[in-house]
This record gives sequence, C-alpha cells and structure tokens, in this order.
Amino acid sequence: MMRAQDAIAAERPDRSSGPAATEFDAIVIGAGVSGLYTLYKLRALGLRVRVFETGTGVGGTWYWNRYPGARFDSESYTYGYSFSPELLEEWDWAERFASQPETERYLNHVADKFDLRRDIRFESRVTTAQYREETRCWEVELEDGSRYRCRFLITAIGVLSAATMPRIPGIGSFLGTSCHTHFWPKEGVAFAGKRVAVIGTGASAIQLIPHVAKAARQLTVFQRTPNWCAPLHNDRIGDEEMRGIRARYPEIFARCNDTPGCFIHAPDPRATHEVTPEEREAFWEKLYGEPGFGIWQGNFRDILVDRAANALVSDFIARKIRQRVKDPAVAEKLIPKNHGFGTRRVPLETGYYEVYNQSNVALVDINETPIECITATGIRTSAAEYEFDIIIYATGFDAITGSFDRIDIAGLGGQRLKDKWRDGPQTFLGILVEGFPNLLMVMGPHAGLGNFPRAAEYSVEWVTGLVRFARDRGLTRIEATQAGVAEWTEHVLATGQGLLMNEIDSWMTGVNRNVEGKQTRKIMRYSGGHPAFREHCDAVAAQGYRRLSLG
Ligand SMILES: Cc1cc2nc3c(=O)[nH]c(=O)nc-3n(C[C@H](O)[C@H](O)[C@H](O)COP(=O)(O)OP(=O)(O)OC[C@H]3O[C@@H](n4cnc5c(N)ncnc54)[C@H](O)[C@@H]3O)c2cc1C
Repeated sequence: MMRAQDAIAAERPDRSSGPAATEFDAIVIGAGVSGLYTLYKLRALGLRVRVFETGTGVGGTWYWNRYPGARFDSESYTYGYSFSPELLEEWDWAERFASQPETERYLNHVADKFDLRRDIRFESRVTTAQYREETRCWEVELEDGSRYRCRFLITAIGVLSAATMPRIPGIGSFLGTSCHTHFWPKEGVAFAGKRVAVIGTGASAIQLIPHVAKAARQLTVFQRTPNWCAPLHNDRIGDEEMRGIRARYPEIFARCNDTPGCFIHAPDPRATHEVTPEEREAFWEKLYGEPGFGIWQGNFRDILVDRAANALVSDFIARKIRQRVKDPAVAEKLIPKNHGFGTRRVPLETGYYEVYNQSNVALVDINETPIECITATGIRTSAAEYEFDIIIYATGFDAITGSFDRIDIAGLGGQRLKDKWRDGPQTFLGILVEGFPNLLMVMGPHAGLGNFPRAAEYSVEWVTGLVRFARDRGLTRIEATQAGVAEWTEHVLATGQGLLMNEIDSWMTGVNRNVEGKQTRKIMRYSGGHPAFREHCDAVAAQGYRRLSLG
C-alpha cells in the first residue's frame, strides 16, 4: 500500500515555466500548532488542502527547539487544543510545564489521531508565492522548484520561527561544534567534559544554561542584555491532579478566554500604590513562590503602565537576584538596567541564577568587552581570547514578520509584502492585507499574542469561517480594504500607547540588532487584550464581512 508521504511525492508538481499543475483549494504553510488545526478545519469543509512544512515532522516550535531544557512557560493544560473533547479526555500531561519531547509527542498524537499527515508535505520550504489576478489564485513555489496553485493561501508560519545568527566576523571559521538553539540536532550535543560557550541570554538560553552548567567542564556565557527572570516552579502532574484538571477544563479555558493574554493568570485589580509596602511585599513573595507567569500576568494592574509601580516590582526582583547570586559584581551584571521587569517577555527559569555560583561558570558582559570575532578555536573579545569545544548561539528570532520576510510574497501588480511592511505591519485584524487578495494569516502581525494555542484556535476558526463563507457563496476573491486596514492599524497603534513594553527594544517591538532594517521599534502586535480582539473580529464576521472587498 502506498504511504501518505509517497502519495504526496508522486503528485508530480509542475517544474516547467508553464502554469502550475497541482491545484488545491487551499495551501497552508507550516505544520505547527496553528497549521495542524487549520488543516483539520479546512478538511472538515471538504476542501482539497495541502500543507507545506520545512521540517521533517509536525510540531513547529516543538519540532525544532530540541535544546535541553526547552519547555513551556504556559501551564501545559492551558496550552493543549480545546477543540476536541475526546483529545482532552485521552491526553495526560506529565508535567505542569511540559518539556519539548512531551509537547512534540502531543502534537504527533494530534496529527495521528486526526490523520493529518496525509495532507502534509514535509521537507518542503515555500520560497515564493505570487497572486494572479486573472485566475484569482496564488502560485506557490518550493525550494526544489516545484509549483502549486491554490485559491486561498494561508500562512501558519510562526511568530518565533525565523532563527537569527549574530553578525560576528568569523562564524564560519570555528572548527569545533556549533549550533543555534532553534536548529538543535536530533541526536543531541554532548557537553560532558567540554568547554562550552553560550552566546545570548534570552528565554532559550535561560532554559538551556542550567543543563549545560551541570555537565560541561567550563561554561562561559556571553551576555549583552540581561533579562528579568522569575522561577518556573515546575512539577510532575500526578494521576489524581490530572483527573482534577480534566474535570475543570471548561472552567480553565473559559478563564483563559477572559484574560488579556489568554493565560490562567489575570491582572490583580489593585494598583501597586493602593496597598501598604508590607502587603505589596507579601503579595510579590507569594507570586514569586508560585508556578508560572503569575508574577508577570497576575501582578498589580499598573506594573506595565506606571513607571513608579514598575520600578518597585523591578526592585523586588533585583533583590531576589542579589540573594541568589553570591558574587555581588556578577549579580549586578545579571540585573537589567535598561528596562523594567515585565516590559520584555519574562523568561521563567529553574536554577538559572544559582548557575553563576558554580566554579565552572563565567559570565562575560559583552557591553564591557565586545566580541570581536569567532576564531578557529573559540571567541576573541576586546579583552581576551577564549578556547571552546562547543559554541551555542542562543540568539533568538527575527520575530513576528521574520518568517514572512523569508518568503517572496507578491500581491497585486507584483507588490512585495516585505516592501509594504517596511515601516511596520499594515493588516486588517492581523489576518488580511490590502493588495494581497485570498492571503489569510493565522496569528499574523497586529493580531493579539499571548498563551498561543488559545489565541491561535480563535484565529484558525475565524480564518476558516471566512473560507467557508466564501465557499458557500461562490466567492473567489477576498481582500482587505484600504479603509479597514487604516482603521485597524490606527487602533492597534492607539492601544499600544502608554504601555511600557512598547518603549523597550525587544522582539515584541520588532527590534533585532542582527537583522538589517530591524533596528527601530514598531508596534508589532495588538495589545488591547484578547477579549477585545475577539470582539472586533466577531463583529466583522457577524456583519457578513462587509468590511472586506468580496467578489
Ligand atoms: C523555545 C520556545 C518556547 C515557547 N514557549 C511557549 C509557551 O510556553 N507558551 C506559548 O504560548 N508560546 C510559546 N512559544 C511560542 C510558540 O512559538 C507558540 O506557542 C506556537 O508553537 C506557535 O505555533 P505556530 O504553529 O503558529 O508556529 P510554529 O510552531 O513556529 O510553526 C511554524 C512552522 O512553519 C514552518 N515554516 C515557516 N516558514 C515556512 C516556509 N517558508 N515553508 C514551509 N514551512 C515554513 C516552520 O518550519 C514551522 O514548523 C515558544 C516559542 C519558542 C521558540
């Protein structure tokens, strides 16, 4: 019997310069959390769908990021899909914050359960997508030159999927082992007895570093910007606890839907200065001792908008770092000075600060002694030459628009999406773009971010609801209007005003010093909270999508 992947391979896509031979109603790019659910929903509409995925398996983020320590900072049971009661009934989460292998297993289970693989073509990177007005179709080309045509092109390409390397001379000259945390080898990396460098101290590095420190002979961490971290407090989930979670699923998902970031943690209704210093301290101690994002998402309502409130909570976390790191000079280096607590996504950690008390670990502040180059044997800074066996680049992602920029997407008149968004994204609801008919983005820029699958499930349902609407009415062309885009963009910019997060360089404000053209801050996401985001999108659908140009 022919396996699904063989059947897909035998499709004989067109490689000539003529019109593309293989036609689909919809092409989805990406087989992560978003792409898998999009496929499930489109297939339920009876459409002919193909998913193209660069990786060799499903999972997206949870397929690629295999570095030791990679895990959720969302509670596992709030992260899983909510659409299938049967799936909720049969899946047991082993840990409060599942590790990468567990989440990859979960997403493979989903793909198997709903027989999704037969419509996914792996090792298939989409390089170009071009809209043809004469056919009202998209023509899509893969890296291997094969071409396909579809009516609807749906991107599910991730907000943190375009990994970036630092711009350091000599990267190619290193003779030891090197890798980026995102492209972690499936066979793993052996640190035992090795001299290891980690470049970067973002969320991935903070998860990875304690694992390297345990095994390596010597670990040297090269830090440019320290982050404010808080304890994860992970634990196993026993059978009884899982039974309790299962019974509370409707309540858990309802709560996530009510909070601005779709987490189970909601802001405390009090302002920081409304309580006494003693009450404040006790509240923060409690949050610091609890699992998950409570300290960030469940804190006083004003810590991310009021500078004085933010300074107080930052001081609380700074004191914690000083308590945990024995060498005061190292502790000071680990305390951020250029941004307040919570104004960047807070990495959750397990024993991160204590690592710097180990005799085999050193911290190098590259603001003081910049990296000059990578050499054949290690790293040279302005102050010293270091020898390493392994260099790990934990240098993050060209976030939110990076994965779009890596595809040559051309709309009406050959206009490039990358050019259109040069000064910042312009979208309608983070889903449609004027001049790019029939392109639908799941979790595109200017949509609400947060606990991802909660937001993504909604996004997929809205997008596939629109496709169903078009199919039922025989519509073949859907486009955002200029007025709709202008209004949404203005609204997104307005809701971003006054948020301390938007005054800070971070991936959330589109800044990546390693990517050309991404040095200035932009509003990249909708920050009015997910309940408000849904209200806007629901209203558009309820009015028969009148805000769109339909034909
Ligand atoms: C290390 C890490 C930890 C995280 N932890 C959390 C967490 O705890 N909670 C949370 O809410 N979020 C977390 N996130 C965010 C995470 O990305 C989302 O939770 C979610 O997995 C995104 O799913 P997605 O399907 O939208 O995108 P992704 O999972 O990024 O999948 C996109 C897929 O598209 C594919 N793709 C992209 N471009 C192309 C192309 N041109 N051609 C073909 N295929 C392409 C990629 O290969 C990838 O597999 C984390 C992210 C990272 C990197």
